Amino acid sequence: MADRLRVSRQRKPLVMFRKSVSPQRILVTGGAGFVGSHLIDCLIDQGHEVLCVDNLVTGSMRNLEHIHGHPRFMFMHHDICLPLDVEVDQIYNLACPASPIHYQRDPVQTTKTCVLGAINMLELARRLNCRILQASTSEVYGDPSVHPQSESYWGNVNPVGVRSCYDEGKRCAETLFFDYHRQFGLDIKVVRVFNAYGPRMHLADGRVVSNFIIQALQNRAISIYGDGTQTRSFCFVDDLVAGMMRLMETERGFTGPVNIGNPNELTIIQLAKAIIELTGSRSELMYRPLPCDDPSRRKPDISLAQSKLCWSPSIELREGLRRSIEYFRSVLAVEQVVQ
Ligand code: NAD
Ligand code: UDP
Repeated sequence: MADRLRVSRQRKPLVMFRKSVSPQRILVTGGAGFVGSHLIDCLIDQGHEVLCVDNLVTGSMRNLEHIHGHPRFMFMHHDICLPLDVEVDQIYNLACPASPIHYQRDPVQTTKTCVLGAINMLELARRLNCRILQASTSEVYGDPSVHPQSESYWGNVNPVGVRSCYDEGKRCAETLFFDYHRQFGLDIKVVRVFNAYGPRMHLADGRVVSNFIIQALQNRAISIYGDGTQTRSFCFVDDLVAGMMRLMETERGFTGPVNIGNPNELTIIQLAKAIIELTGSRSELMYRPLPCDDPSRRKPDISLAQSKLCWSPSIELREGLRRSIEYFRSVLAVEQVVQ
């Protein structure tokens, strides 16, 4: 498929396509990660050819093993901090560690991935004159003083804190996207993703849903950071991917940013209790210090996604948690996890 991706962008498709979406050659950076691997499944399912570019810093080939050898899928090991030269019709730029533990492990590399990675992917899109979507984040709102957060809110971000490599990196990436749009007329889309969860989350990435489910399944103490009254709004990964793909299909000139998330806001204690109940666990709550700059509340205003993309999340929390618990149960059956 390397040749197919390079040779001709006019070539006739090899397969029939569903849903009248015309077939494209699509680059997904970060496709071996949690969100990217689900996105690739949907793109392949729609009949597209997909090139996944990933340096596997937090992703895993295991997330892609079910499509290994698929005639319309190809993997390329590459760091997006370096220029990339391929022939594609569309780019989804997802490459970047998303969990606080992962993005704080090598913060300089995180900023480079956000900023240099964005420049390299934007330059590629500019050369190819193709559409490019950036996976941005609710972290651009920082610890928000406006609630819920709509796209017009500029945010409250600490520029020198431990989360800044990610928050400011993603904010700078957004700036670059909009400057490439204004300066070069590039066809851009920016999605601001609010906490997503589901199967294929990294087992040891320290995010709250994966941590709590694993702890509950092992009947270990549930680690509540701070007093657990901070809030988040969790979106099942299938809903997120559907929203991203809808945004990608909007008319040229509609850039976003668009919030994609589930406005069902709950405290971290409520999340812990729901997971204990759904797993039938004997775990108890254990309180630990709150990490630095941890946002106290977060909830997306999704009116823009609803009106412009006709998108709303459809998978309610308990159903999404059930599917996630099933996934982690099956993985834990064959793998040891030490948190
Ligand atoms: P993830 O860590 O599971 O996946 C990120 C992928 O990017 C991994 O496969 C990793 O190996 C790859 N990667 C990282 N740096 C790279 C580099 N320099 N070059 C090439 N590949 C690189 O994270 P995720 O949860 O799947 O997040 C995907 C995207 O969505 C990220 O851009 C993240 O910022 C954004 N996002 C996710 C969430 C969420 O809740 N999952 C929330 C907000 C934003
Ligand atoms: N959190 C927690 N226990 C954990 C992991 C996270 O209480 O084991 C809290 C964390 O302090 C934050 C929320 O859960 O308030 C969401 O954390 P996560 O790392 O999943 O995402 P983010 O902070 O980026 O929204």
